[in-house]
Amino acid sequence: MSLKAAVTTRGAVLLGKYVACDAFDEVRPLRVVTHAHSDHLPGLRESLENCEAVVMTPATKHLIDVLKGPLFLMTGEVKTLRYEEEFAYGDERLTLHYVDHILGAAQVLVEDAEGARILYTSDFRLPETPIIESDILVIETTYGNPSRVRPFKKTVKSILVSLVEQGLKKGPVYLFGYHGKIQEVMEILHRAKVRVPFVVPEKVFRVSKICERHGMRLGRYLLSSGEEAQLMVQRREPYVAFYHMGSRRYVGKDALRICMSGWEFEGPYRRTAENEYVVALSDHSDFKGLIRYVKESKPKLVITDNYRVGDAVALAKEIQKQLNIPARPLPPRRNP
Ligand SMILES: [Zn+2]
Repeated sequence: MSLKAAVTTRGAVLLGKYVACDAFDEVRPLRVVTHAHSDHLPGLRESLENCEAVVMTPATKHLIDVLKGPLFLMTGEVKTLRYEEEFAYGDERLTLHYVDHILGAAQVLVEDAEGARILYTSDFRLPETPIIESDILVIETTYGNPSRVRPFKKTVKSILVSLVEQGLKKGPVYLFGYHGKIQEVMEILHRAKVRVPFVVPEKVFRVSKICERHGMRLGRYLLSSGEEAQLMVQRREPYVAFYHMGSRRYVGKDALRICMSGWEFEGPYRRTAENEYVVALSDHSDFKGLIRYVKESKPKLVITDNYRVGDAVALAKEIQKQLNIPARPLPPRRNP
């Protein structure tokens, strides 16, 4: 196998001769950041210090400015690339393409001098992610195990809305999720005409502002430390609060609580305590979506990402079995 793509033990997805995606690599002059989730940011400081350019979409840059502070990216040479905009480096061409995941997220295509199309999907969700044809494909593996199938996708949003509406009859509702997914839920509720105020802590507030700047419609939201929000919290007026998953032990203990998790496969939601539900809102493809992507991309070789959380070994096996396309997990063994 000519190594036109690989995943290193540090989690860098290598494409062609020059590009390393989503982790630092000592010899590659270009680092691509596919999106602002933390498992795609390792070694970013080293990349800024060492690479000729760190490439990302404008929206991803804005999100990292909020999540890491505005000075962080100034320590290196950041090149923003819009979707489909071409960046030529040496004898290769790099383009970023839309994926349905979080704001700014991209899949990465490198076309080399021999005309090979080398593609990294990064994290994605079907059906709204365009499937790109490739010769060599590196694919995410979050739900790479054949048991990870969600047959109930269409009902999740309406169940979420009705859980929130029922909760609001009794008081405030607290929602917990990761950056990006929180804003997706705000947009779902806004579209469903849930018109109580939303209350958010500062980082969620600032991420939300970026999402609005890039076209999302989130409704009216207030900073949790502000006077208006504090008053509502004291009076237990109906409102919907949105917090990062990491805060779920600390806030909204007496309210109705809803956690967003992709790791739910039995049904669209599950009651986990007297006042708590988990809703299966995922921003990743399930197993069937992963297989469908590979099938329609028509690669000659697939590499399954065995660095990030997922099931790269099982997915590689199923790709070989179901599609008869050579596939291997890389790095060979996941880091402890
Ligand atoms: Zn992600």
